[in-house]
Amino acid sequence: MTARGASTSHGSTARFTGGAIAAGRVSVLLPLPLEGAYDYRVPRGMALEPGDLVVVPLARREVAGVVWGAAAGKVAPEKVKEVIARLDAPPFTAELCRFIDWVARYTLAPPGAVLRMAMSAPAALVPPKSRIGYRRAEASGEEPEVRLTAARRRVLAVLAGGPPRPAPELAREAGVGPRVVRGLADAGVLEPVVMAPRTPFETPDWRRKGVDLSSSQMTAAAALCPKVRKGGFGVTLMDGVTGSGKTEVYFEAIAAALGKGGQVLVLVPEIALTAQWLDRFARRFGARPAEWHSDLTPAYRRLTWRAVAEGQARVVVGARSALFLPFAGLGLIVVDEEHDSSFKQEEGVIYHARDMAVVRARLAGIPITLVSAVPSLETVTNVEAGRYDRLHLPDRFGGARLPEIQVIDMRQDRPERQCWLSPILKAALQDTVAAGEQAMLFLNRRGYAPLTLCRACGHRFDCPNCTAWLVEHRLARRLECHHCGYLASMSSACPACGAEDTLAACGPGVERLAEEVTRAFPEVRFAIMASDTMTGPRAVAALVRRVETHALDLLIGTQIMAKGHHFPLLTLVGVVDADLGLAGGDLRAVERTYQLLHQVAGRAGRAERPGRVYVQTYMPEHRVMEALVSGEAGRFLEAEAASRRARRMPPFGRLAALIVSGADAQRVDAAARALGRAAPRGKGIEVLGPAPAPLSLLRGRHRRRLLLKAERRVNVQAVLGDWLGRVKAPAGVRVQVDVDPYSFL
Ligand code: ADP
Ligand code: ZN
Repeated sequence: MTARGASTSHGSTARFTGGAIAAGRVSVLLPLPLEGAYDYRVPRGMALEPGDLVVVPLARREVAGVVWGAAAGKVAPEKVKEVIARLDAPPFTAELCRFIDWVARYTLAPPGAVLRMAMSAPAALVPPKSRIGYRRAEASGEEPEVRLTAARRRVLAVLAGGPPRPAPELAREAGVGPRVVRGLADAGVLEPVVMAPRTPFETPDWRRKGVDLSSSQMTAAAALCPKVRKGGFGVTLMDGVTGSGKTEVYFEAIAAALGKGGQVLVLVPEIALTAQWLDRFARRFGARPAEWHSDLTPAYRRLTWRAVAEGQARVVVGARSALFLPFAGLGLIVVDEEHDSSFKQEEGVIYHARDMAVVRARLAGIPITLVSAVPSLETVTNVEAGRYDRLHLPDRFGGARLPEIQVIDMRQDRPERQCWLSPILKAALQDTVAAGEQAMLFLNRRGYAPLTLCRACGHRFDCPNCTAWLVEHRLARRLECHHCGYLASMSSACPACGAEDTLAACGPGVERLAEEVTRAFPEVRFAIMASDTMTGPRAVAALVRRVETHALDLLIGTQIMAKGHHFPLLTLVGVVDADLGLAGGDLRAVERTYQLLHQVAGRAGRAERPGRVYVQTYMPEHRVMEALVSGEAGRFLEAEAASRRARRMPPFGRLAALIVSGADAQRVDAAARALGRAAPRGKGIEVLGPAPAPLSLLRGRHRRRLLLKAERRVNVQAVLGDWLGRVKAPAGVRVQVDVDPYSFL
């Protein structure tokens, strides 16, 4: 069973207490999903310390790993192989090693799988090659006989008075071929010198003055900054409506951490890594931070990983994976949009980056700030229990008013047939564009239509690999599974009954909404903003510029446009289907819908012009809609808390899910039933299932779920470890453990 090895502890408690381990044996953790660390012999003359990066043999391969401690000594001496080399890279700090162990224990993942996230740029383990530059040779007694052509003179002119330059750079700048530079070097006019390695990241200037803070910002900064200067673990929630100036306040905390010489990690949901945030940071500190997310070149990753490990990159802004970077000396962590569910990683090591960030801060003994306009119930509960401090910014900055939110009852204000915009929203859209302002239509569904069916025979197009309909993408002229990426081309005939022109698209996606807008308002300049139309941060940045320069009147988009952006001319937000997120009905569906809609609404009226928000719903009396209109977030969360407390659901109880999957349905069922029979019993423990997962087929794998529900005092990891240890899954069946699940699919 994949999850089992995770619970074995591998290190010794003496780790990091002893000094160098010379000529003995060490345990080395490898970035692979193995049971634990392996023992290796230290060759004569090599001194190793815990945290050192080494290369060791594994079967017939050579693998880089980290010295984890003294050897466990369980292997016969003659079987122990020898460490091949010590790598010239900064060693992992004791804090990082403890963090990796902690995450592995908590998530029941193999420690090597967690280590792999920290060794995410293998090329960075080798020091960068030193660069050779050229400078004008010192004139010696015997001046070499050289003919100075125009091209050669241009090269010398580029070098005159400046530092040495690498040959390609020199040639490029002088506008000559590489042979010209080589010729000068051969003739002895230029001489090579070894240049210092590139320092890729400038140090942000924390002494630079920021904006003048409002009095409530000042109060918050005055509470936050001393904690950062003093150091020590502590969690602070900073909340306040969108546009209340939270970012400016945490910039002050970043300045305080930098002033102390520490590094800073700012975690953001992937998509909020906007050009706008980066520009703003650069304006405040005069230098760009290092970035860390999935859309980086290998060269940039390598440079960044090493600069972080050497302490040279002082501020890193990144998605959840940045949490595992090998910081030399962290001084502060900020988690922006802390409520965002994209902090939960659902593949591989299943962890929640916000929660693990708090753990890393505790192990590092540093402060952490959680920031949100709509904090999660988990965090609010921690504040109420006195575990976290809270700073609150009450108003929008500069007197900008919060937008007025109005619910449209779709049972009353019906759209036309095969349309999705109510007359009220359409009129508002027209007024807004006519007034020279901008609008946003929000629909959290990509593509053209979520379902295609045949009107003649009722055939529905579904994915052969997943329990899911195929979504039509009309622009790309194909059907697509949003779970596994399966593609099918659109035909005019039904594949089941052969009838021609009987296929009907059911329901809207953003593309279909765009079609409706084009029909109703042909003159409106709009763009679609969805994850499949935006290929990366650069595409998002380009679109953001078009909005800022008013080259667009309207954005039509999914949740990727809900966060972070600040558009002064945007005064109207229309939520096309507010009920969409409530349908799944999982534990956090209501909370998540509230957070998302609140955040979308927050895009409107962020500057002088007041904003309007229309929310289309078939459930205007639902408490989510009522809370949105009244703006009483506190009351809404209280009700949510009461309902979860009554059901002993998180954060008032604990959950862990087991997902049993495999290609063979019978084997999967048998394994799931075996797990069900072996389910732990005891006071405060309950096991639900096994049951087919809502996505009972995913990427060709059959899936069953079991859910462990426990009281808060229960040590869930111990219970799970024991449970999984008693059941052996057959070959071809995988059991994934999801501690604190956010997805129930
Ligand atoms: P939040 O992070 O709470 O959404 P921001 O920090 O982004 O709020 O602030 C909203 C807007 O107000 C931004 O455009 C920001 O530049 C501006 N702003 C915030 N505080 C100040 C200040 N003290 N002086 C000038 N502009 C400010
Ligand atoms: Zn699929």
